[in-house]
Amino acid sequence: MSTQTYSSEYDVIVIGGGVLGAFHAYFAMRQGFKTLLIERNVFPQQASARNFGLIIPSAMPAGRWRDRAIASCEIYSELSELLGVPLQRMGTQYLAHTEAEADFLRQMALSSEDSLCPVEFYTAEETIRSSCCLNPEFCQGSLFFPQDLQLDPDQFFRALINWIACTSDCDYLPNTTAISVESQGSHNRVKTSSGREFQAYHVFVCSGADLQTLFPDVYSTRNLQYCKLQMLKLSNPENRTLGTSIASPIALTRYPAFLNAQFLQGVSLPAPDPVLEELGIQIWITQNQNNEFILGDSHAYSTDPPTEFLSAEVEAQMINYARKMFVKLDFQVLDRWCGIYTEEQSTGLFQQTLDESIHLITGIGSKGMTTGPGLARENLSQLSLSKSRI
Ligand SMILES: Cc1cc2nc3c(=O)[nH]c(=O)nc-3n(C[C@H](O)[C@H](O)[C@H](O)COP(=O)(O)OP(=O)(O)OC[C@H]3O[C@@H](n4cnc5c(N)ncnc54)[C@H](O)[C@@H]3O)c2cc1C
Repeated sequence: MSTQTYSSEYDVIVIGGGVLGAFHAYFAMRQGFKTLLIERNVFPQQASARNFGLIIPSAMPAGRWRDRAIASCEIYSELSELLGVPLQRMGTQYLAHTEAEADFLRQMALSSEDSLCPVEFYTAEETIRSSCCLNPEFCQGSLFFPQDLQLDPDQFFRALINWIACTSDCDYLPNTTAISVESQGSHNRVKTSSGREFQAYHVFVCSGADLQTLFPDVYSTRNLQYCKLQMLKLSNPENRTLGTSIASPIALTRYPAFLNAQFLQGVSLPAPDPVLEELGIQIWITQNQNNEFILGDSHAYSTDPPTEFLSAEVEAQMINYARKMFVKLDFQVLDRWCGIYTEEQSTGLFQQTLDESIHLITGIGSKGMTTGPGLARENLSQLSLSKSRI
């Protein structure tokens, strides 16, 4: 990281170094705007550092969000080379457990016309052959999306932020909380907890699940909710290889791409068992660079900020379901954590501009890694340094 001295005036200030903030700063810098990125911690430690690192156009419905996901895949590909951060092109396999689910997935593959998001149906035998871990009694088939990507999010954002902070057009101010943003004529003034003040034409507030520090009144009037997710890291003593990232059939009843396809096919797949549904559990399993398993996740929604306490029941239910999907999976829990994001309940994104130059962006829900870079590039491409709405 550079040991820069800070100017008091910038073209653009971005608050929050998660996926939304880091990429808004990256594209602002790429546009040639003198940019300051302010982050509360040394590096981001919230949802953007705690997630699976899955970039999954497969889960996005065709249209604007799928386009953003595909754009994001290109952006991550370029950056992984530049930053030297591995990007795994392992694809995702969505499993079917019942005949009805297998029929649904087969039909989805047959009717797929999206060459930008290719897909292949695997029979039960092909599915089992594709991974030594899957339980033959569980799998009735699967849908494979080869294009889906995965990276280590914590490693990626450290590398990205270090890189942009070394460029002449972007400064990084870590360990600093922005405590106020005020419009002052043609400029905005940002004050920090350490008593510093900065000015900029445009301010992007990408504060994730912190809706209390800046503009709490604006957020409180909108359709935003919190979602807390639990995750596990499991050992892999037999050094098995999954081959792809694997989604349980529960994903077919949660993700918009599959809900849309159900609607188009005129089918309605039953929700998972009531306990899993109540806990918002849908099982994904991936592998990190050490070949350990990452297992998640659960979804607990609330209108008040959640605590970071972990639920033993959620953990037990996730492990129990994973044991059904995988054959004789031997492991120990190595780590457990939760992450919190906000979700805008009607449009899937909260984006509002105040005084034509203070842009509040949050509520992207479970798709921030998948679509955040594409969204940030769109926003910055529309920005000019006079006050403007994006
Ligand atoms: C467990 C889990 C798994 C997930 N898996 C995936 C996945 O595989 N694929 C996918 O697409 N999405 C996934 N998501 C969703 C994704 O992680 C989120 O959509 C995304 O990280 C939200 O990014 P953000 O930048 O809005 O918020 P955050 O990541 O929360 O970042 C906000 C940042 O702002 C900083 N900040 C806040 N207020 C201030 C302030 N006043 N001053 C300075 N700094 C401030 C915080 O410190 C933080 O670093 C997952 C989420 C979780 C929790």
